[in-house]
Amino acid sequence: MYIGYIFDLDDTLYCEHDFVTSGFRAVAKELACYRSDMSVGAIQEMLIAEWKKNGRGKVFNEICKRLDVDIDIAHLVHIYRTHHPDISLYEDAKEFISFLKEKGKILGIITDGHSTMQWTKVEALNLESMFDYIIVTGDLGDEHWKPSETPYRKMVEYLNLDFKDCVYIGDNPHKDFITARKLGMGTIRIIRNIGDHMRTRLAKEYEADHVIDSLSELMDRVE
Ligand SMILES: [Mg+2]
Repeated sequence: MYIGYIFDLDDTLYCEHDFVTSGFRAVAKELACYRSDMSVGAIQEMLIAEWKKNGRGKVFNEICKRLDVDIDIAHLVHIYRTHHPDISLYEDAKEFISFLKEKGKILGIITDGHSTMQWTKVEALNLESMFDYIIVTGDLGDEHWKPSETPYRKMVEYLNLDFKDCVYIGDNPHKDFITARKLGMGTIRIIRNIGDHMRTRLAKEYEADHVIDSLSELMDRVE
């Protein structure tokens, strides 16, 4: 069957909410320097509550306003993106990766996002020792983020494989599968208990060939 197993990162291999919570802790530590009357934990809770209520977009602006802290928001974004995250691989991801390696499969990651931020995740999860090639599209420029063909082409070229020998495994039907499928790769969508796309349903060309809720389900399908 497939030789190359190419994964998305956020919400496919680890829980992105854990990264957000961890980043908010780092930002809360900074904000607590300006509000000695408040604990880091209390500020972190405020950030989390605002994020859950209104999404990620203006969390820092809103909480700084409420705390009456006058600080450059770009500085907080920098702290968030560069902090050493407290995250770990999903158990099924850990097992599936070792299983694939035992089977002699070739492993890759294509992940969208701010370059430094994605690489701190890769480092925290120790992924470079497990994967043959990792592409952070943030390194390539905005126009090369998924669903651009660029990262998929770069991946198979580097791994020296054909598209038909590879499968892409991700969680976001808006961008993970449409191009992979068009290029001839297999596509698998994982729907976990936590994630922004659990309930997303799109037109057929955006969806994957198979849907799973744990990577363990793929074990008996690997030859
Ligand atoms: Mg994802």
